[in-house]
Amino acid sequence: MWVGTENGGLNKFERERGQFTHYQHNSNDPHSLSHNFVWPIYEDRTGDFWIGTFGGGLNKFDRDTEQFVRYQHNPNDPHSLGNNSIAKLYEDSLGEFWIGTTGGLDKFDRATGQFSHYQHNPDDPHSLSSDIVASIYEDQSGSLWIGTLGGFNKFDRKTETFTRYGTKDGLPNEVITGILEDAQGNLWLSTFKGLSKFNPQTETFKTYTSSDGLQSDRFSVGHYQSKDGKMFFGGDRGFNAFYPQEIKDNDYIPPIVLTDFQLFNESVPVSADSAVPKSLTEIEEIELSYQDSVFSFEFSALHYSDPETNQYAYMLEGFDKDWNYTNAKRRFATYTNLDGGEYVFRVKGSNSDGVWNEEGISVKIIINPPFWQTLWFRTLTVTLVLGSVFGAFNLRVRTIQTQRRQLKIQVNERTKELKTAKEKAETAKEEAEIANQAKSVFLANMSHELRTPLNGILGYAQILKRQANLSGRQKNHLNIIQSSGEHLLTLINDILDLGKIEAQKVEVEVNNFNLLAMIRHVLNITKINAEEKDLFIHYKERTPLPELVRGDERKLKQILLNLLGNAVKYTKHGSVTLQVSYQEDDSNLLSCQIEDTGIGIPAEKLEKIFDPFTQISVEGASIQGTGLGLTITRELIALMKGTLSVESKMGQGSVFTVELRLPVVSGVATNVEEIERHVIGYKGERKRVLAVDDNITNLSVLVSLLEPLGFDLIMAENGQEAVRQAVASKPDLILLDFIMPLMDGLDVIRTTRRSPELQHTRIIGVSATTLDEAHKRDFVVACDDFVSKPVKIELLIDKIEQQLQIEWLVKKPETAETSTVSSPEGGKVPPGEILGAIEQKVERGDFSGIEKILKDLLNKDVDYAAFCDNIREFANRYEDERILKYIDLCKRGQL
Ligand code: ADP
Repeated sequence: MWVGTENGGLNKFERERGQFTHYQHNSNDPHSLSHNFVWPIYEDRTGDFWIGTFGGGLNKFDRDTEQFVRYQHNPNDPHSLGNNSIAKLYEDSLGEFWIGTTGGLDKFDRATGQFSHYQHNPDDPHSLSSDIVASIYEDQSGSLWIGTLGGFNKFDRKTETFTRYGTKDGLPNEVITGILEDAQGNLWLSTFKGLSKFNPQTETFKTYTSSDGLQSDRFSVGHYQSKDGKMFFGGDRGFNAFYPQEIKDNDYIPPIVLTDFQLFNESVPVSADSAVPKSLTEIEEIELSYQDSVFSFEFSALHYSDPETNQYAYMLEGFDKDWNYTNAKRRFATYTNLDGGEYVFRVKGSNSDGVWNEEGISVKIIINPPFWQTLWFRTLTVTLVLGSVFGAFNLRVRTIQTQRRQLKIQVNERTKELKTAKEKAETAKEEAEIANQAKSVFLANMSHELRTPLNGILGYAQILKRQANLSGRQKNHLNIIQSSGEHLLTLINDILDLGKIEAQKVEVEVNNFNLLAMIRHVLNITKINAEEKDLFIHYKERTPLPELVRGDERKLKQILLNLLGNAVKYTKHGSVTLQVSYQEDDSNLLSCQIEDTGIGIPAEKLEKIFDPFTQISVEGASIQGTGLGLTITRELIALMKGTLSVESKMGQGSVFTVELRLPVVSGVATNVEEIERHVIGYKGERKRVLAVDDNITNLSVLVSLLEPLGFDLIMAENGQEAVRQAVASKPDLILLDFIMPLMDGLDVIRTTRRSPELQHTRIIGVSATTLDEAHKRDFVVACDDFVSKPVKIELLIDKIEQQLQIEWLVKKPETAETSTVSSPEGGKVPPGEILGAIEQKVERGDFSGIEKILKDLLNKDVDYAAFCDNIREFANRYEDERILKYIDLCKRGQL
């Protein structure tokens, strides 16, 4: 059995021996695998064995010599492989070998080693619909079908052209991840929005979604058909297996009826003198006056199996040019302010399986016009208008002559006015500059104000996380609070940055950081937006990255987030790729390339996009954002002495490249999460801590954290009180805020340092960033150590340890096994037979069966909620062992 991995090469598994053999890329051996990201593995009919990679092209593997022959893209050879990222390999019944790449479809002549290419051409509607090919399939009649990330295609071998199918033809979504065929000749297509059955004869699609019992609407590339015709499609939440012949459609043609007629949103009762003289089921004609300017129909299809999925279409002949399609949620049509005349209102509908009653029903609508729309009135109006135009012309000639005389006088006056205006403009400019300054100060103050409540939120989220006995779910919630708070903090910092950039007050802050962890974090954030738009995010390391580097982590993160965010924002289909490489020579050059398959930027605008508030409008794309992102990005890169370049092709995508120097630092990078210790106290005598902050929330965060650890806490709310308290109680440590009323932190330090009794008191500064960096630097230098607000508790604990020279008492970390298994917190454990039933489902791997049991349990009694949450968390990750262990503990009454 052969197993391809994402970055670990190819594996051979010998089942009898239970052993793996690894085949990996070796840059010194041209006969090794060309790349470690292995995607399709394919054995053709001659027994040759092919390995497609994502980034390294195609390999032929000789099983006797265990050597690889590579086929790769060569820009100078038009007959080489078209693109090195391969998603699909397929040999058809004529023995032709097809390769789906992210740069089009290739046909490979294995005898001559030559490739021919089929690519998307925006000007040719008979070219491939998109260059990213994910699936290839030959049906029983010999037709070849190509699924891409931008539509479904039939290939005509004679003319070498493609017929495209997309959402406008009834496909639910244009990302086609897999194709299989049933015995009736229907093709089953897995997409990002359900599974679609395509009838090639009628060229119609019928789509099934999670509401029909599919694992979710989103399918991935894994699919398979067993010999007896059973189909398997894998997706986000497991996979579906089914015999296509057992999926039956309903062919009952539903009758359509009108259920209501309304004027001005009020139902019109059936009566001889109303607009509706007969029952709505029999009515053929409705007569209205021009004053009845708002009328609506309500309709329904009489089909009651799954009526929410019935479809409808209506149109008013004489007004609508085409049918308006609607669904069961909006079974009505409203028209307003129609001109007088005759119209026909038609409705047709379908049952839940898309079988349409094409004939539908119709009603004639007659609207009697008002007198001013009648012919005699119009003739009269035209005569009057012509008469007045002639009169007005004569009048105008005379007026122009008078105006000429007046103009001369006005020119003199205007020259005088202009002079005053210029003087005014100069004053206005000065005022604007003052206002701009005021704005920067306001931004700084505002961000300081916002930080204080955030300090409370982040501080208490961290304190709560330190509590023992939290369930996995509670921890999860706290993590969300913390990461949302941190996100808000970044936004606030960005606003401050903009103010600072304008005031030219940004500085590079250098620290050691874990490069890969930062990149992963950025990718995770980007992924959330990309998934909403069905975009793929690829990440490639072209060279190995150093673990620990030195640079401004926050700015680099902001730069990557901006560029990736734009790539996602301005791409409709396809993918966004981040490629990074690092030169470990003297240059220490990190290069990050952000590539998208989006709308592109016109060549003449490539420089302009970096100007503040510049947004270019491209046809068919709506403007989003503020137009500031690239301005900030470029300023930040310039500040770090890096370069930013961009290349783009309209309609094909853009590539932004950032290059900057980041020196490597030796040592192993540690992740804050990993070093989190559960400190519960300290050894040795009791220490006294004075916490100083003018904000009560900040104070209480510090007190709530430190008091339980066994410190004697004293508080002060301003500088003067701090000095008084320090002299009176001689604390071992002062946690000192910088900006405070009456006396600021720096003055507190200067005063206390003069007192001989306070020589041994250590001072840790705790402060937020401000616009006045120079003044703050004096404060930081004067302190023994410094942490910035909002406070990271782990960091503060480290600093206290260093300053007070104490040894912490640490609670043993829980093992991964026990930490996620939490007790049902006062909730109930279900009876033995339910536990047994869940166990059985686990053994059969029936995770959706488990979900059903959990749902039933919850319906019975909410006290099972905690139990269900725990099981569901494991089930979502397919951790069967964990579920069995947890149930075992429940059975033995240990939870
Ligand atoms: P915005 O907030 O409008 O995204 P930016 O300064 O980040 O502001 O970008 C300026 C303009 O540059 C955008 O409005 C957009 O027209 C264009 N642009 C930026 N990135 C891309 C991209 N990857 N693809 C296409 N157009 C882009």
